[in-house]
Amino acid sequence: MNVLVFAPHPDDAAISCGGTISKLSKKNKVIVVYMTSGEAGSIKISEKKLAKQREAEVKKAAKILGVKKTIFLRNPDGFLEFNKKNLQKIISIIRQEKPGLVICPYEKDKHRDHKATAELVLDSVWKASGPWIKGTGKPWDVKEVLCYETWTPIQNPVHFEDISKTIATKVKAIKCFKSQTKDIGYDEAVKCLNRFRGVMSGLGNYCECFEVKEG
Ligand SMILES: [Zn+2]
Repeated sequence: MNVLVFAPHPDDAAISCGGTISKLSKKNKVIVVYMTSGEAGSIKISEKKLAKQREAEVKKAAKILGVKKTIFLRNPDGFLEFNKKNLQKIISIIRQEKPGLVICPYEKDKHRDHKATAELVLDSVWKASGPWIKGTGKPWDVKEVLCYETWTPIQNPVHFEDISKTIATKVKAIKCFKSQTKDIGYDEAVKCLNRFRGVMSGLGNYCECFEVKEG
């Protein structure tokens, strides 16, 4: 099966579902689409230089997580828009890669780029399944969609992945994003969130949790 993951920013896939990606990549082809290249992530460095650095960090992390393919859409960081152009791009990717499972942020995430990614992807999954949107390939029906949490925890998660065996790999991947982790300890923060999910669900030492949407 192909698994298509959507990340608003370069470090989001590793932070939000890196343990699940590492698990899935053992038996499936995992492809990650980056909506922006995170060029607004630091005021100390030029946007062009930072985007390049963060895309290089993605490549390193992808290797660690077993991701087979990365796609950069290079929308402006902080200004991701729900529009026709972005929908057409995402529908084309879905119809080309034919994923059985799509993973994206959940709609109530407070960050506007995360919210926009959720809205774009969920609408594209639906539109990709029907005989609509000329020039984006043949219809493809995604069977399952999992929506992840980043820094706005999901209130009522329904799907839990036990990532106890892949948490070390996940942390290693997050540490590739040096441009971000040197200022804020994202690796520590998400380890605590995953531990919280593991303890409270009783399903594993470390868990990632998701909302489930029908494809
Ligand atoms: Zn983000």
